[in-house]
Amino acid sequence: MNKTITIIKGDGIGPEIVTQAMRVLDVVAQQYGHTFTYQEVAAGGNAIDQYGVPLPEESLAKCLNCDSVLLGAVGGPKWDNVEPARRPEKALLGIRKEMGLYSNLRPAKIFPQLADASPLKPFIVAEGIDFIIVRELIGGIYFGKRRTEELDGQLVANDEMTYSEGEIRRIARVAFNTARKRSGRVISVDKANVLDTSRLWRKVMNEVAEEYPDVTLEHMLVDNCAMQIVKKPSQFDVVVTENMFGDILSDEASMITGSIGMIPSSSLGDGTRGLYEPIHGSAPDIAGQNLANPIGTILAAAMMLKYSFDMDEESAAIEAAVEATLNDGYRTGDCMSEGMIRLGCVEMGDQIIAHLKKR
Ligand code: NAD
Repeated sequence: MNKTITIIKGDGIGPEIVTQAMRVLDVVAQQYGHTFTYQEVAAGGNAIDQYGVPLPEESLAKCLNCDSVLLGAVGGPKWDNVEPARRPEKALLGIRKEMGLYSNLRPAKIFPQLADASPLKPFIVAEGIDFIIVRELIGGIYFGKRRTEELDGQLVANDEMTYSEGEIRRIARVAFNTARKRSGRVISVDKANVLDTSRLWRKVMNEVAEEYPDVTLEHMLVDNCAMQIVKKPSQFDVVVTENMFGDILSDEASMITGSIGMIPSSSLGDGTRGLYEPIHGSAPDIAGQNLANPIGTILAAAMMLKYSFDMDEESAAIEAAVEATLNDGYRTGDCMSEGMIRLGCVEMGDQIIAHLKKR
């Protein structure tokens, strides 16, 4: 197969981790007879420096004209004081919106080899952590109208949160379809005791549930969900929620699995083209020092092969190579524990590639 992949290395550790993922993809291409053509584009802080905007038109055009996009991370303190409309994150919001990526799937799965790195008590971890958060990605408060104005001598800020039935229905279907491939349980998270958007969310979730008699649906308030994720994470299979709640809960869920450096995510719309990235940010504190964990990005590339290119075997081969490398005791600093062997970003890439080549 020939696939064109748009590459956004981004800022901070972005270039280091994406480079390792591309090395892994190159080995997969060689082994399985595929051709991956990369088109690298600027987005985020580096694009502000080069072009004055976080998402140049040419970069967006290449995201819209490819088979999938692989992203490192954008942002950093250098651009913290840029005017809000031109901040690095605007690039991501723009790409998601223009590509119509309304669903974000983030697995929260503990690697048994990293059980020690979880901040949870061992008996909670031992019950297992393996769920997926389906987050609505292009609606809600992050995309609502906002304004700050002076009223009665003080500044007053206002952010609007809006959801339509259609926006809720399509993300509900993603969640129910995902549950069908897992253990058939959806927990929908909202704040229906307070918010109108949540009451509509709950109503539409219940309607869509009728199309899926084989899947069970429960509702949970977001504050309770935040507690349950640390108290009894084994109860979750598929969690579906709106944009802002999903943003917060998915970070919480990633923390309990040990290291945010290990977790990939995929964003998809109605077609097969997606945006794949690790869940973490650009980690400016360790950028350029060969300290970053590339595994989240490498697993994001594996997700891309599976969900966008239908290359299940190739994707599984990458996952197996990552597992084997962890079994060998290799760790980057973020998930290092006693008795393990500490590696840099490039060396972690080397080990994973060595396992891939053993196949
Ligand atoms: P962060 O995820 O970049 O870093 C949080 C902590 O985790 C840091 O100590 C960092 O060193 C560590 N870390 C993150 N990824 C790691 C990896 N792969 N290997 C080892 N350690 C890793 O979050 P932050 O510090 O809040 O944000 C830094 C910048 O990234 C900000 O400008 C923020 O806006 C941006 N950001 C971008 C994205 C994105 O591009 N999708 C997401 C979140 C934050």
